[in-house]
Amino acid sequence: MIPALLNPCELEIDLFCKGMRIDPSCALVEDGRGVSRTRAGLGSGLELVLPGSLKNIWMNVPVEEDFARASPYRLVKSGTAYWVEDDRAGLRYPVRVPSEPSWYARRTSSGTPMRRIGVLQGTYLGIYISNSCLYWYSDPSMHCRFCTTGANVGVNEVALKGLEDVVEVARTAREESGVTFVHFNSGYSKRCHEEAAPFVKAVKDRVGGLIGLQLMPSRDLSVYDRLIDLGVDHFSFCYEFQNPEYFARYLPGKEATLGQQAFFDALEYTARKLGKGAVSGEIIAGVEPIEDTLRAIDYITGVGAFPTVCIFRPVIGSDMERHPSPRYDDMRIVFQHVYDACRRNRIPIGLAPNLEVSLICQHDDTRYLASPGISTWMYEAWLAAMRRLAQPVFRSRMAPRFAAAAASAAAGPC
Ligand code: SF4
Repeated sequence: MIPALLNPCELEIDLFCKGMRIDPSCALVEDGRGVSRTRAGLGSGLELVLPGSLKNIWMNVPVEEDFARASPYRLVKSGTAYWVEDDRAGLRYPVRVPSEPSWYARRTSSGTPMRRIGVLQGTYLGIYISNSCLYWYSDPSMHCRFCTTGANVGVNEVALKGLEDVVEVARTAREESGVTFVHFNSGYSKRCHEEAAPFVKAVKDRVGGLIGLQLMPSRDLSVYDRLIDLGVDHFSFCYEFQNPEYFARYLPGKEATLGQQAFFDALEYTARKLGKGAVSGEIIAGVEPIEDTLRAIDYITGVGAFPTVCIFRPVIGSDMERHPSPRYDDMRIVFQHVYDACRRNRIPIGLAPNLEVSLICQHDDTRYLASPGISTWMYEAWLAAMRRLAQPVFRSRMAPRFAAAAASAAAGPC
């Protein structure tokens, strides 16, 4: 069947599923961001921007995996412009290749290369705070089967990050790249919340911006109260699979040390504390049966969180590198369901300023998949109103706390 022209979200989904080849006409060393093999391996592709009428979509396209070599999609350069061509039907899509920020080539005051402290993934700054993940060091290894963190941390990134280095890179990314969101991430560590706290406080106080944390769930839920007080705006919990058998089979460490319920408890608690749309449940689509993925989306939105759905990527070097990449038709159903579930549960999506996540098909990318009708129209009108109302809230949340406190002290009492 000859494929029809896809909208930007459909193209994003198909590129995640099929990957892309690079035509010799491309000059990515000069024009693009280098392929970065960091963390669980999801960022191992090429960053692209797919322009669209509702929003521009940032994505990280698989280009190195075997399945990408068989992709019908090819990135070509013509003059100064880039296109993704679909060789099956001679279709072509205009795209933008975001350039590498100039600070990637610089060092912090202590001499550490800045790109080894944090990297842009879309428009946000991702920082892996801890020294890898203990699941990789147990015997037998209990690492998640799709993950390559054990091979990547310390190769492309500094394993133990210094507080001052992190503050300096966060400030530089904010000033020079317009970053509004810093995401701290860690694998399994018994002290991950204590380790994260000083980084959260230092960046919130001295740099500002929105702060996200992606750590293992804590059974002591009061930990989240303290982290929120320090300035965390967002938590995400990677439980990956709704089906308990898949959870146990592919996440042996999480099954043995925490269990699925710990993720649900932390997700529900923080969603209640921070309000609708501030917390996310992170899952992988394309491995467990699609009915389970749809159930996960219903559960996550039902508790007031938003679903962060990664299309499974068989990353080179992972145990699952031979597992097939998901089918487009299945993934389109999944992401249409994301939109419908967010609409039904009135989850505010796409409110945070300049926050585009390239590793996944972001919840508000799915606005391109909405079925026309009164319920979509009403949800979109509500989102537009929420976007306006949220602007002053985000402005105040993003101010550095030291600066805000100093300003109000200088103003003095009336
Ligand atoms: S928790 Fe799992 S996905 Fe995360 S770093 Fe460890 S092994 Fe990888």
